[in-house]
Amino acid sequence: MRLSRYFLPLLKEVPSEAQIVSHQLMLRAGMIRQSSAGIYSWLPLGFRVLRRVEQIVREEMNAAGAHEILMPAIQPAELWQESGRYEDYGKEMLRITDRHERPMLYGPTHEEVVTDIFRRSVRSYRDLPVNLYQIQWKFRDEIRPRFGVMRGREFLMKDNYSFDLDLAGAMRSYDNMFMAYVRTFRRMDLTAIPMRASSGAIGGDMSHEFQVLAATGESQVYYDVAFEEFDFLAAVADEATVEHLKGLYAATDEEHDSASCPVPAERLRSGRGIEVGQIFYFGTKYSKPMGATVAGPDGQEVPVEMGCYGIGISRLAGALIEVFHDDAGIRWPESVAPFRLGIINLRPGDAACDALVADLEGKLARAGVEVLIDDRDESPGAKFATMDLIGLPWQAIVGPRGVKQGVVELKNRASGERQELSPEALLGRMTA
Ligand code: ATP
Ligand code: MG
Repeated sequence: MRLSRYFLPLLKEVPSEAQIVSHQLMLRAGMIRQSSAGIYSWLPLGFRVLRRVEQIVREEMNAAGAHEILMPAIQPAELWQESGRYEDYGKEMLRITDRHERPMLYGPTHEEVVTDIFRRSVRSYRDLPVNLYQIQWKFRDEIRPRFGVMRGREFLMKDNYSFDLDLAGAMRSYDNMFMAYVRTFRRMDLTAIPMRASSGAIGGDMSHEFQVLAATGESQVYYDVAFEEFDFLAAVADEATVEHLKGLYAATDEEHDSASCPVPAERLRSGRGIEVGQIFYFGTKYSKPMGATVAGPDGQEVPVEMGCYGIGISRLAGALIEVFHDDAGIRWPESVAPFRLGIINLRPGDAACDALVADLEGKLARAGVEVLIDDRDESPGAKFATMDLIGLPWQAIVGPRGVKQGVVELKNRASGERQELSPEALLGRMTA
């Protein structure tokens, strides 16, 4: 992709409405634009990141045995009347009336819709367990939308729903998702600490929130220092790891009670966290009132045991920036970067520079490496600043002096390390 033809509306000034660094950087780097309070458009650079986060989540959910579906964003109120949540959910629910005066709503979550699909499709315990998920826009009319995509009103969520015959099965499904979450966040280079949590409006008996530590996090969190000693990025995500992590103390402030906290003061840490995901076991809370039953081995009809599992995909785009940035801009981990490499052509119009850049462009495209080329007629300083701001993991600088000597400069955005190497060596590095 050539920057001269790309749609990358950068902002020079820090927008005054943006209070936290991820929001500021997403606006400055031309990733998002606000449409109305808590509702955003995703521009090309931001949309690429959103899609990459989404794809990692999708691959890990598929690997965990879940099946992707897509449920409607607009739901009938009747289903929520059946579950008993229609009145309870309150003002966060966007209620709509269609032309026939039928009450509808824009889904803040999908337990009712998925339970309805299940009850109309599955009859026997032999068809269990079932785990369905979707990646879908939700709407919650948050009282205080803020921090850009971190607390939006419209936001993209991955939500799974599991169905099991009994408690033991439901616990296996829960642990399976717990493990999938450790794998998912690890692929984004994130340490997300699983914490005991209350289950809020979803309701239920067991729940963990996955919290990424960051100074701007909205939750106050408390955790055993053992979490700092545990290497999430190197961990093998197996049953033993799940047991180990579940056994350690970590809680958000609603659950934390210093008097009964089992961790001695010298091993207790506190900080701020960003909730990037949450998993719930809630048993028969929806299956019972909605009549989602299966015939058990003895022929008796039993309501299924359910769990649900959310990941905030659009929030993750912001959370990643909160973790990975410096004074100059974003430092994307490779797995979620919008492009892997940025090539700066210091002298567009210089025949040798243009030829080398075009050659690299073609070869990298054939190798499937995503590249953004700064071929604009701008000062070198402006080009370096743009590359640092948008945070691609690698930068290759092509200038007349280097081209004469047969070298380009390669810079690692995260470490700042620079080295000169031949174009062939650069291709080798980028396609390895
Ligand atoms: P919060 O406590 O932050 O309001 P929640 O507990 O109500 O979130 P869940 O129902 O657990 O949210 O939703 C699953 C995930 O969706 C959350 O872990 C979070 O990452 C994301 N999420 C929830 N609300 C929002 C929002 N308003 N904007 C962006 N992402 C959100
Ligand atoms: Mg939650």
